[in-house]
Order: sequence, then C-alpha cells, then structure tokens
Amino acid sequence: MSTPAYEVYAIKYAHHERTASQNFLGGDPHDGPMPMDYFVWLVRGARVDLVVDTGFNAAAAARRQRQLLRPVDAALALVGVDAAKVRDVIVTHLHYDHVGNFDLFPQATFHLQDLEMQFATGRFMCHEPMRHAFDVENVVGMVRNVYAGRVQFHAGDAQLLPGISVHLIGGHTMGLQVVRVATRRGHVVLASDASHYYANMGEARPFPIVYNVGDMIEGWGKLRLLADSPAHIVPGHDPLVLERYPAPREELAGIVARLD
Ligand SMILES: [Zn+2]
Repeated sequence: MSTPAYEVYAIKYAHHERTASQNFLGGDPHDGPMPMDYFVWLVRGARVDLVVDTGFNAAAAARRQRQLLRPVDAALALVGVDAAKVRDVIVTHLHYDHVGNFDLFPQATFHLQDLEMQFATGRFMCHEPMRHAFDVENVVGMVRNVYAGRVQFHAGDAQLLPGISVHLIGGHTMGLQVVRVATRRGHVVLASDASHYYANMGEARPFPIVYNVGDMIEGWGKLRLLADSPAHIVPGHDPLVLERYPAPREELAGIVARLD
C-alpha cells in the first residue's frame, strides 16, 4: 500500500503589527515593520480532517492587543471544516496563540508532547518571562482534558496516521513538536514556532521567546532533515506563507494557503 497524499492548508485568523526587533534575539539593527500573522493548519485526507493548533479567542486577543480577524471556527469553516466534529487536534505547544480554543473541539483528542505538559505545569512557570506566553486557563483546561481521557501524549517522534507524524523539537518551549505530512509534492513540515519566520531559520537568528536557544538552533537542522526541501518547511507566523503558496480559491487569497 502506498502512503496517502494529504492536502495541507494554512489558515490565517489573526494579525499583529510589530517591528523586527521584536522577532529576533538581540533585536535588529535595521529595525522596521515586521508584522506577525497567526495561523491554524488543516491536514485533509480522504477520510480525515486533522487540525493543527487551535489559535486564540476574542478575550485573549483583547487582553494581548492582537487583531482577531475571524474566530477560529469560522476560519476553519472557510475550508469546509466543522470544528465540533474534528476528531484529532495536534497541539504543537501550549502557548496562548496555539491552544486558546480547545473548547471549540468537543469531540477531539489532543496530541501533546510529555515535555510540554511538564513545562507548562512545572518549575519554570514560577518565572514571568517563561510563563508570559501561556494563559493559565488554557493549561488548566488541558489538564482537565487529560482527566477526561482526551489527551494522547507523545514522547519524541510518533506516527499518528500513515504519512502523518509529530516530532519533538523543543527550543521555543520545552516540548514544542512539529508535524510532518506526506503530500503529492513530498513531505511538508509544519514548523509552527520552531521557526516563526523564514528569516529565523534562514538567517540563523533565533526568536526572542525561547526556553533553550541551543535546542531552537538544533531544531532548524531537524526541520531540514524532515522536509523534502527548504520550500517544504512552513514557518508558524510568517505573512510570506500566504504569498509563497497559492490560495485554494480566489476569494480566499490572503487568508488561506494550500501548502501541498
Ligand atoms: Zn506562536
């Protein structure tokens, strides 16, 4: 049996105007505008719609002064997904912008690395710079999901379905994982925050929100090994994703990109 070829979509749900100095460790000598986009991703097979990350909601957007363009369930509906029916959600890590909407997925099992739960509930959260990008209600909510039998933990690399696997990277957070998907153009890697922008890994300049800089830098090498080419690596927050990949339909240009 051959490996299935999945469709993969990046769906933009939010935006933040910021400057380049906020996106690189040590700042940027040529500081200028460098906005951030926020995405969720969809992996679609013949019989499966698998969602990667859940984004943040309106309350979090207001609290952190991010521009919520469309609620994540509405964003997913643009590509024909009913969030309430999704069975599997991969959570790359527990930061507020990746796990703020798990309540929109009442049927889902959440796939999470052991180390990420350890990180989000352990000693490093005593320190404001480490916990800043977490929202405690999201973390507590995920603990409740554990007790409800709705979390599937992974330790390192794991295959979820033929052609879909998760891989522990760490760096940005202790348990950050990326997703590798078999598509018609080869293996695509959803890097999430292993590289926020093309420039982070492309210019070897780490993003400043980081647990372990060494693991973050090593992670770029892992991404290159997992993907069929650099053009198969999809950064987590780069507006360029919507320019480098085509929209599935004309009216979704600037919102949805087809990554396969
Ligand atoms: Zn993020």
